[in-house]
This record gives sequence, C-alpha cells and structure tokens, in this order.
Amino acid sequence: MIDVVMPTYARADLAFVRGEGVYLFDEDGRQYLDFASGVAVNSLGHCHPHLIKALGEQAGTLWHTSNLYRVPGQETLAARLVAESFADTVFFCNSGAEAVECGLKMIRKFHSDNGHPERCRVIAASNGFQGRTLATVAAGGQEKHMAGFAPIPDGFDHVAFGNLNEMRAAVTEQTAGILVEPVQGEGGIHTASMDYLKGLRDIADEFGLLLMFDEVQTGLGRTGKLFAYQWADVAPDIMTLAKGLGGGFPIGACVATEHAAQALSAGTHGSTFGGNPLAMATANAVLDVMLKPGFMDRVDAIAETLWKRLREMAEANTDVIEDVRGAGLMIGLKCVGDSAVLKSALQDAGLLTVGAGDNVVRLLPPLIIDESHVDEAMDILNAVVRSKP
Ligand SMILES: *Cc1c(COP(=O)(O)O)cnc(C)c1O
Repeated sequence: MIDVVMPTYARADLAFVRGEGVYLFDEDGRQYLDFASGVAVNSLGHCHPHLIKALGEQAGTLWHTSNLYRVPGQETLAARLVAESFADTVFFCNSGAEAVECGLKMIRKFHSDNGHPERCRVIAASNGFQGRTLATVAAGGQEKHMAGFAPIPDGFDHVAFGNLNEMRAAVTEQTAGILVEPVQGEGGIHTASMDYLKGLRDIADEFGLLLMFDEVQTGLGRTGKLFAYQWADVAPDIMTLAKGLGGGFPIGACVATEHAAQALSAGTHGSTFGGNPLAMATANAVLDVMLKPGFMDRVDAIAETLWKRLREMAEANTDVIEDVRGAGLMIGLKCVGDSAVLKSALQDAGLLTVGAGDNVVRLLPPLIIDESHVDEAMDILNAVVRSKP
C-alpha cells in the first residue's frame, strides 16, 4: 500500500525531533552534526534565538492579511534586499520554483511589452536546477526531471554550463533571456568563473536579453558574499532567492531592476501566501544577523579553514575523493566510488550531508559554524574516508 506521505522522495529512515545550532537530534536522542542545513535552508542553524524571537512576536501579532493590502514587513525586507543588491524591486513568493517562475514570466512579458512577443525563449545551462514545477523542470533541462511529464512547456534552449561560445551561438531572434546558477548546486557543484558571468552579461547586453541568475541556493551568504554574483564585477537584471532567506521559514523572492520588472504591472502576477507577515518577520531577522558588520568576513574565514582541511583530506585519499569544488560554504566532494555510499557512511557516523548530481556529496553547513564544528566534521570525514567506503 502506498505510504500516506506521497513517496516522491527516497527518504533516509531518520526523523529529527529537535535542532540546536549546528546540531540535529533524532527520535532516539542521537546527535548529528548538520552539514546539510535542510539543503542550504537553515542558514543560521537551528533555533537561532533572534529568529525565534522575531517569528514568535509576529505569531502573537498578525499571521496573514493578503497582498490586497500593504504588508509593512515586505516593504522593509524589499528595501533591504534592494539596498544590498543591484535590484530596484522585489516580488515575494514561497519557494525557489515560484521565484524562478516569476523571473521567467518577467522575461517574456518584458519583450512582449516592447513589441517583440516572438522573443519568448530562454537559454539556460544544461544540468541546471530551477525547481519541480513544469516550467522549472523545463528550464532545468534535466531528462530525469522531465521524463513522463510531457508536454513539457516549450521556450527553453540548453547549452553547456561555462561555455560562452555555445551560449552566444544559441542566441536567435526568439531569444528573450539567459538563466544560469552562479554555482550549479543540485547539478553537482559546478562553479562559474568570473569571466563566464561577465561574458554572459556582455552577450545579454549585445542582444538585448535579460540576464537572470538563479541564486536560490547560492544567495544569502552561502558562497561567502551575500549574493554569489558579487564575486564577479557584473550584475544580472533578475535574481531569484529562496532557500537561505527564511532560515527555515518558507519564502522565495524574485528581485529585479526597474527596467526588467516594469513588465509585471498590477494584475499580471500574484501569490496568495507570498510575502506573508510571518515569512517577512523571519527573513528580516535573518538579514539582521547576516548584515551585521563582520558576519560575511567570518563566513569567508571559516570557509577557508574548511577548504584547507578538505583539500588535505582529498590529497591524502585520492582513491576516494577526486575533487573538492564550489565556493564558500557550498562545497562538493566529487567521489571516485559511489557518492551515495559515502553520504550514508557519513550519516551513520553522525555527519549529515546532501547528495548532488555528477557523483558529488554536498557540504552545506549553516553559516554560523566555528572551528570546533570544522574539527568535528573533519574528524568524521577523515575517519570515514580512510575506511574507503
Ligand atoms: C532548490 C532550488 C530551486 C527550487 O527551490 P524550491 O523551493 O524547491 O522550489 C531553484 N533553484 C535552485 C538553484 C535551487 O537550488
């Protein structure tokens, strides 16, 4: 008989009942070091006191009103995201896929409003991940996510990630925009070079395309800057955010320049729950912490420590780990053997990680880890890797 919870995930037989900082506790009281962060969501770890306070106070005041009215928390959060980025304006939703959908609709409507409805296609990088709605699996272009779901929405072309020649050659009179993750997460931690991101900007400018970066996973400090695009000297026209923004509370955001976003006028797009006061209070609290002077410097410093230790481990165990790659605290261990076996051995030893494409184990620790957590993770990693799983 089918599970009462629809079996869309191959779940580990583990249920956590409590979280505290970088640790999770299962039903039997066993403690795990959480280098998964709910897939880059628990950016400030579990039960951060500032987030508990903000969400608790909001819960005792007002939960939901609707986007038929002004939502002050949205105005505050949007103003902060705008101040910290290239963007002029923000649409709030509840997930990464919804944020991407907003960006895709914006790209199409922009050209339609400018008298070019034929410019409706988006070029994306193959092996991307943009979510599980029909349009976002089409944008991601991964066969395994599209199989059986035909007809898949049309309007997407795919080229190899990192290849500017292919991108340029794929532009046609129907092209409306470009969509790329600065670091491909689910696809296996493939990191764009600065030159690649700059080159995408140049191609977009040359052909009048809107450039969209999917920072659902890379955003909010994951790579050591608030947004990954800030490593390169370029800005997109549209950027999607979600995972780390709510610190565990569901939220998505599509941020854009005025130029790109003017197409989405009143009545053209919407969300019942998007920008709900509870989500706004929590995300504003996340930013309170992340925007404190020195926060990103600490993320950067601890990431450097972790990288150094991981590289040493990889060099000493080239028969198990082929490569350490990524940026900041978004790290992929490319495995020689089956990455799923390494991931489950780490879990048995008390360290939670996340799988990814391309035979990679992802390390996505909360941004609040300190040296002691790095030591503890490396003790587990070294022991497990030395056992040659
Ligand atoms: C997780 C992810 C998404 C989808 O987010 P959901 O909240 O699951 O819809 C989109 N883009 C990227 C880059 C992601 O990592």
